[in-house]
Amino acid sequence: MDVIIIGAGISGLAAGFFIHRQQPDMEVVILEASARVGGAIRSHACQGYLAESGPHGFLDNKKESQILLAETGLAETVQKAPLGDFQRFLCRYGRLIALPQKPQELLTTPLLGLGGKLRLLGDIFKKPFGGEPTIAQWAEYRFGRSVLPMVDAAVTGTFSGDYERLLVDAVMPGVRDLEKKHGSVLRGLRKKPKKAKSGGHLPAMNNFPDGMESMAPALQKGQDVRLHTLVERVVKTDQGWQVETSAGILSAPHVIIALPMNGSLRLLADRRPPVAMVPESRICNVALGCADTGIVPKGFGYLAPECEKRFALGCMFTSRMFPGRAPQGKVLLEALVGGRRHPEKLQLSDEELIAGVWADMGKLLDLPARPEFSKVLRSDSGIPQMEKGHPALLDWRLQQEQLNPGLHICGFGWDGIGINDMTRSASKAAESVCGNRGDDGAAEVKPVYF
Ligand SMILES: Cc1cc2nc3c(=O)[nH]c(=O)nc-3n(C[C@H](O)[C@H](O)[C@H](O)COP(=O)(O)OP(=O)(O)OC[C@H]3O[C@@H](n4cnc5c(N)ncnc54)[C@H](O)[C@@H]3O)c2cc1C
Repeated sequence: MDVIIIGAGISGLAAGFFIHRQQPDMEVVILEASARVGGAIRSHACQGYLAESGPHGFLDNKKESQILLAETGLAETVQKAPLGDFQRFLCRYGRLIALPQKPQELLTTPLLGLGGKLRLLGDIFKKPFGGEPTIAQWAEYRFGRSVLPMVDAAVTGTFSGDYERLLVDAVMPGVRDLEKKHGSVLRGLRKKPKKAKSGGHLPAMNNFPDGMESMAPALQKGQDVRLHTLVERVVKTDQGWQVETSAGILSAPHVIIALPMNGSLRLLADRRPPVAMVPESRICNVALGCADTGIVPKGFGYLAPECEKRFALGCMFTSRMFPGRAPQGKVLLEALVGGRRHPEKLQLSDEELIAGVWADMGKLLDLPARPEFSKVLRSDSGIPQMEKGHPALLDWRLQQEQLNPGLHICGFGWDGIGINDMTRSASKAAESVCGNRGDDGAAEVKPVYF
């Protein structure tokens, strides 16, 4: 065979898809340890409700994911929830406050006082922050203290992480480049070439009528995926790569390791990575259903910064965004608990989690005494955190790929943590296999949508 891909999550499946798209004659095999494809993506249908233990959707603003949807037929069934139509909320001062959807709304939001609003402009006068600051250090230095709860919530909503530990260079390399190049983020944004700006259009969140899990079989179609095949070792040989698995040994000139960072680091441990493991954040989803009395607003949901000391990190108003997720006349709420700062909450029983979340949300929304439906979904997957040492790990990966032709590393945590990051990184690995690796270009400036 020509290529061995390790892992049949979205990264491995997308890498196989993009290779076939460019070179249909290439012989590609995907090795998967478990009994199913899709990895962290998992949807659960129960009593007429449809919830997710992994990703709840992804934005439609990335070329690679859109190609994948169009060419697998998924685009025909995709459900879209445009960000412009659905309000997002921050839990602040014990109530839900609508988040600014556009930069100009920062001037009127009650989330910032007058001093806080003026301080945002202080960014223009600040020199670039040296070293490897955390997101919290960097945001306070550039935009002032008042903005921190909003920044904390954004980081919670994406990484379920701790903004006092995540590194700004690792999470927002594009924004950091603007700061370094132009001396200020705001000045950099103003000078960004017109074509790189979004044109003011907000993207939409994508999901599917049968849940996110629909992506896996659609991508698997036509690919040689071998389940129950745990990869134990990857060895370089004169001809390329030898992959030792629980089902025997395979060889190929190219190997793509498409695993979460810690899985890759385990397989490449003899190549002396700068750290043996990266920290991960774990969350569980407490899915709750009740009669739709109209009390849940038409919105995506809310996020709660740490300073609010809530039980849940936030909650998605899922059936508002995607129709068909709850029986007629009911509403589905999916609350997230745990995260990098509160792993102890994941030790609680299902009953304790349900009671804790319902009591917490009951103070924000006028909910009935008890939910009619409840299910605790505990994900097996942790979310890799880009904390201290992440830049050194990226340098090490680059060095490994350059020193070892035929070795390609993508997957959860290396180039980001979202579905769009995975498809983009998988597409790059595929290009590299097919010999078309283009210029990586400047780091992308990713807008923050909470
Ligand atoms: C709780 C949670 C919520 C999330 N929410 C969102 C969201 O709302 N939006 C979004 O865009 N993203 C979200 N994500 C991130 C998204 O799920 C990931 O980006 C994506 O699923 C990672 O895909 P992957 O293929 O790289 O890794 P995985 O999905 O982990 O797949 C890796 C696969 O490799 C297999 N494997 C592991 N080791 C071996 C081995 N040695 N040999 C063979 N096979 C092996 C595993 O069994 C698995 O199937 C969330 C993630 C989690 C955990």
